[in-house]
Amino acid sequence: MAYNPYENAQEQFGKVADQIGLDAGARELLRQPMKEFHFTIPVKMDDGSTKVFKAFRIKHNDARGPAKGGIRFHPHETADTVRALSMWMTWKCAVVDIPLGGGKGGIICNPLELSAGEQERMCRGYIRGAYSQFGPNLDVPAPDSGSNSQHMLWMMDEYETMAGARYPGVITGKPVGMGGSLGRTEATGYGIVYVLKDLLDIEKTDISATTASIQGFGNVAEYAARLYSELGGKVVTISCKNSPDSPAFTVRKKSGCDIQQLTEIKKGWGIDEEKAKALGYEILPGDAWLCEDVDILIPAALENEITPANFPSISKQVRIIAEGANGPTTPDTDPLIRERGITLLPDFLVNAGGVTCSYFEQVQCNMNYFWTLEETLEKLNTAMSKAFRAVYDLAKEKNLYMRDAAYVIAINRVSEAAKLRGWI
Ligand code: GLU
Repeated sequence: MAYNPYENAQEQFGKVADQIGLDAGARELLRQPMKEFHFTIPVKMDDGSTKVFKAFRIKHNDARGPAKGGIRFHPHETADTVRALSMWMTWKCAVVDIPLGGGKGGIICNPLELSAGEQERMCRGYIRGAYSQFGPNLDVPAPDSGSNSQHMLWMMDEYETMAGARYPGVITGKPVGMGGSLGRTEATGYGIVYVLKDLLDIEKTDISATTASIQGFGNVAEYAARLYSELGGKVVTISCKNSPDSPAFTVRKKSGCDIQQLTEIKKGWGIDEEKAKALGYEILPGDAWLCEDVDILIPAALENEITPANFPSISKQVRIIAEGANGPTTPDTDPLIRERGITLLPDFLVNAGGVTCSYFEQVQCNMNYFWTLEETLEKLNTAMSKAFRAVYDLAKEKNLYMRDAAYVIAINRVSEAAKLRGWI
């Protein structure tokens, strides 16, 4: 069965809209993006030819503040994926209560197949093509899967060149020293572990007595694995791919993966399989991460990875699923997760650390005064814990699935803002 992330996002929204009796106007406004921008980027390739890339910027809702969200570089990007991701950004910013709306962008490309010069021209072309959509008070992009801080800097430079002035708040996830915030690189992964730790504390479980299995070894997964290991947790397996179209495989070390060691042997988007083998890691099929006997699963790659088809192979030992990726679990899997008594930490809550730190980056750019790493991470931890506590308490009080509780809070905040503005 092929899952469509936009349909998934609408189904999740519709279910909670029914539960809270959301009125028809609010429902119609929030079930779809407010604005879509589709365009093409012609790029002069190093060999003299021209390649045309399809690109998107989609604004789901900006009732609570300028739209915010990353730009994904992926060969299988679709308008529907970007629509879904833009919706999830709205809920994400609302649930952590930062004054931003939801947007998302994408370019259909495989950055691993482009030279640095080609990537730079593509990034500059993205801004030239969609310049009118962006601005510090309009819509603020950031990195997402496949894009990084260098891409953001090229985009900022192009924007500033066109605007004829400096606008460091137009984009976040910039390099430190160039308007970036300390901690932004770590923020999404660390945020996951802050929330996980809060949940384990409530359950009076020592994190060092737990084990985890992770899908992905990009920026999010790497930093989640790092902090989780530093706090004493044992990462047993990591599943990854070297590039978007190469096969996935799982590395396993029963005594616990050494995350620093694996970082040193990164290859493309994943880990160098041969080098991992030489270092004593077992190499297993791509889906083995899901079947491992661990306490915690952290899907931190892409959407639609946990489905009713593979759910039965999840080990009975698993008690927590922390969704590091956006939309890794399909809506028809939610009842199965709930039935088995697994605690789900939903994506737009648990992975909100990235955008929260992006917001801090904007604040620091506006002040032109930058915080220390400790200060930034402390503020991040506080924001994530506060959001988690509100969702957790509501879920307990009303006997709600944690995803639904997060939606109740987010939808209420966004529809309230739209009402106050007189839109609905
Ligand atoms: N791309 C990240 C996300 O999905 C971060 C977005 C941002 O910082 O604006 O949450």
